[in-house]
Amino acid sequence: MRTSRQKIVAANWKMHLDRVEALSLASEIIETAQREGLSAAQIILAVPHIHLHACGRLLESVGKFPLFLGAQNCHHEAKGAFTGEIAAAMLASYQVAYVIIGHSERRQYAFEDSKQLIAKLKRCFENNLKAIFCCGEPLAVRNAQGHLAYVRLQIEEVLSTLQPAELMNIALAYEPIWAIGTGLTANTAQIAEMHDSLRQLLMELSPAHGQQMPILYGGSCKASNAADIFATPNVDGALVGGAALDTREFLNIVKAIQDK
Ligand code: PEP
Repeated sequence: MRTSRQKIVAANWKMHLDRVEALSLASEIIETAQREGLSAAQIILAVPHIHLHACGRLLESVGKFPLFLGAQNCHHEAKGAFTGEIAAAMLASYQVAYVIIGHSERRQYAFEDSKQLIAKLKRCFENNLKAIFCCGEPLAVRNAQGHLAYVRLQIEEVLSTLQPAELMNIALAYEPIWAIGTGLTANTAQIAEMHDSLRQLLMELSPAHGQQMPILYGGSCKASNAADIFATPNVDGALVGGAALDTREFLNIVKAIQDK
């Protein structure tokens, strides 16, 4: 079924690339995407915080072309004595449009829990930032057939606390942890099952908005599997890690959604 949902392909650069490499990759992506007219999906570059300013200046030149700056995290407090942290208001002042919230690497290494993630989302919305909110199960949970309940809880705990209109500022990203950076991609039946379950949950949480929220897939998405992933019902785009560090590979994923 065709829908009017926003299509999104977001690059998560994680902790990769020095200044010169980051600027070179961002410029190449911007120039190539514009030259090839890849404008059917929103393209988001979620770069390390230290590259936001420089990459933001490059992105200023794109005019109405749908290329946006993203950040990979923000702090859950508005401001204060939190050495080394970055506030949502600071991101907003650098033309950031999207913030990745709840990535499994931050849940695992920075021990972020649902309470913190709710606060982070609130800070984003207060500053007119949209969020890519991540969920996904570890392998042991999948092997025990607990994946649907596990992911449902991750979403319910957080999204049920938000105002229905706030849901419009979120794109969900389903990223099975066992598929992130491993080269193992969930198969299309597994993706379809989870995305269908997520869509049903969103409809329960907000009949008015549940149909509109984009649901992205993440986990070893690359040019060679993107078309199959995007042909799966309820997949509205991708959150891309490793494959986003190569212009051609990344933009071929964008092309695949353009052709959907
Ligand atoms: C990610 O970490 O968001 C991700 C999808 O990584 P990769 O594409 O490398 O699996």
